[in-house]
Amino acid sequence: MKLAVFDDYRIGVVDERVLRDVTGLLPKELDLFPAQRMNWLIANWADYEGRILERASNGAATIAVAAVTLLAPNPAPPHIFAAPANYRKHLNELGARSVSKGRTAREQGFFLKAPGSIVGAGARIELPRDSLRRFDHESELAVIVGRGGRNIHRDDAMKHVFGYSCLIDGTMRIEPGSGEEERTMRKSFASFTPLGPYLVTADEVPEPHGLRNRLSVNGETRQDANTVDMIVGIAELIELISSVLPLSPGDVIATGTPEGVGPLNVGDEVTIEIERVGRMSLAVHQTDAVSPRPF
Ligand code: MN
Repeated sequence: MKLAVFDDYRIGVVDERVLRDVTGLLPKELDLFPAQRMNWLIANWADYEGRILERASNGAATIAVAAVTLLAPNPAPPHIFAAPANYRKHLNELGARSVSKGRTAREQGFFLKAPGSIVGAGARIELPRDSLRRFDHESELAVIVGRGGRNIHRDDAMKHVFGYSCLIDGTMRIEPGSGEEERTMRKSFASFTPLGPYLVTADEVPEPHGLRNRLSVNGETRQDANTVDMIVGIAELIELISSVLPLSPGDVIATGTPEGVGPLNVGDEVTIEIERVGRMSLAVHQTDAVSPRPF
């Protein structure tokens, strides 16, 4: 199933170019916290999957996807965990820009991005106004956690995956000679975590380590790799993260980027496409206001 969150955090089931609104099936109390609907639905999926399928297959009117504003398919995950340096070829290209000194996700573990930096396919990426810094795209497969848990063994880990989405890990790159700002800050500017266009449930992606992962800017291919080349696979990432902090339903895990990372500039259009998972394009703008603390 492909799930979308749209307009005022409504939930829809996507069928090609249309979707069917199933928000009315969820408890009314969630209307008080609409951004939490998807976390709640994921946590209660076993009770709701059948009803949602039924409503989507008969009864609900179709709405053109083009007529709605797509938000991130989980707009408010409890956490965004992210793997650094998780494709071997990407390690080589970071060179002087890397503070990891050749260490991979296996040694470094994970970092956090601010959940507030998430936007959906209907949004745009906004760079800080008038900045001279380099801002990069990183094309990543996002794992959406279903059942939570602590100390999940890698052999059980895939049972905790609810689904997948496309994620662009926007990054302010460290320049040689510039200050080495913390990674969390460099990757948490508002809009620096586009997620979408949909959440594709795990049953539709039987082998998440064999997916073509591509990103282009203005139609020019920048990244074209396969998730088979991840250094630390999804099950081991879940084992690692859950050994530090319990995973929660709706958590997002960004699985790292392959080679081909490059700059985003104002006026660009960036497109991410992951096999079986989806494709979305976002325009790159700059913020309207000058910040009091320039970057
Ligand atoms: Mn990344």
